[in-house]
Amino acid sequence: MQQAWLPDLIYVDGHFRSDVALVCDQTVLRLEPAGETRNPIVLKNRALLPGLVNAHSHAFQRVIRGRTEHRSPHSRDSFWTWREQMYAAANRLTPEEIYAASRMAFLEMALSGITAVGEFHYLHHAPDGAPYSDPNMLEREVIRAARDVGIRIALLRVAYARAGFEKESDPQQIRFIEASPDTYLKNLEQLLRAPELKDGAAWIGVAPHSVRAVPLDYLKTIIEFANTHRLVVHMHVAEQPAEIEACFKEYERSPLALLDTEGLLSARFTAVHGIYVTREEIRAVARRQANVCACPTTERNLGDGTIPVDAYLNAGVPVSLGTDSQIQIDLLEDARELEYHLRLNQNARNVLAPSDETEKNADESAVARRLFSCATTSGALSIGFDGGSLEPGAPADFFTVDLDDPSIAGASPENLLANVVFSLSRTAVRDVVVGGRRIVADGRHAQQEGIVTSFCQIQSRL
Ligand SMILES: [Zn+2]
Repeated sequence: MQQAWLPDLIYVDGHFRSDVALVCDQTVLRLEPAGETRNPIVLKNRALLPGLVNAHSHAFQRVIRGRTEHRSPHSRDSFWTWREQMYAAANRLTPEEIYAASRMAFLEMALSGITAVGEFHYLHHAPDGAPYSDPNMLEREVIRAARDVGIRIALLRVAYARAGFEKESDPQQIRFIEASPDTYLKNLEQLLRAPELKDGAAWIGVAPHSVRAVPLDYLKTIIEFANTHRLVVHMHVAEQPAEIEACFKEYERSPLALLDTEGLLSARFTAVHGIYVTREEIRAVARRQANVCACPTTERNLGDGTIPVDAYLNAGVPVSLGTDSQIQIDLLEDARELEYHLRLNQNARNVLAPSDETEKNADESAVARRLFSCATTSGALSIGFDGGSLEPGAPADFFTVDLDDPSIAGASPENLLANVVFSLSRTAVRDVVVGGRRIVADGRHAQQEGIVTSFCQIQSRL
């Protein structure tokens, strides 16, 4: 059914326009003059923007929020000690709890304006390591959670073969392991036939966990499958110095150099994190038209490091964003953090200002525009769908913000995007629409109470 939406302002082609309505069914049909539109839903005092795309998430990790912000006396805490705590939680969750925890994370995403997620999913088996009778039971629980909340999901099914190069197997990883590429592909093919993928709201990608967890032959086999079947490929790359060292030991190359020289980088490939990289590696990523996904709120929480996003963007690499560990679900915070890390590192401001400083590129929202496209179009490109904008033909996925919210009140159309990207409080998000269907109205989701209640029950058990 066609529906016109009439807010005060609509963000199209990098600018806010007034006096226009957005006409959609499940996709965007057109913009039309406000005076000519029939029976619009009037969104007074609101600005409408394309839905945010969260390209990297581990939904179940929502259960450890607030549980890892301390350390044992006289010890040093790091990514690796955090991982122990994360594994302990992962290994206790039942399928129903994985559904409920994921639904909580997806609810929080929806409330913040996220309309699609790339879910990097690595829990496959029962807590004792035995496969479920349906080897994709947990994948399907996570897809069900996204569908019940109403956001789109790219389920990036993870391949995990080993603890690491020359490492004993880790009993904490038994829920992840599919030791051979044959097993992985058999299960993946079965998932590709799942009935819940029929309507385009959910789809599948291939996610070799990391160079550490997947040996080269395995990696080549599953990436070849992904390329043949036109599936996106996501992989953790260069998040921690220890990963780089281990890769040099095994292959005498860094992870990105390995992926490049083995011909595994392509426009379908997204390197998640990409922090410890050389200029030459960035050029290789650009040459292969591959993508990078940064997760700054998680990276700062885990002490991973900061991404050289200026170098990636200037080389033409699309950079998307992910909420990753769910320490915070607010993709605009990730967007602003990209620029803020550079300011802190370089003792400068507006580092990401477009290098082409024509009048057109020097307006008040020029930097914000670049960051906002990381949170929208680059995210959609990374997870493999045509969202992230309000062009005719794009999915009707969008959100609105309250122009009187104290965090952005007083903004002009020229600097509204800079207000949104640098200062918006998540509470300013009022409506969220996915595929033409409103899933959040007036800042609330219809199933919000039930989702929160069942999540609280899990948290008290854990
Ligand atoms: Zn991750």
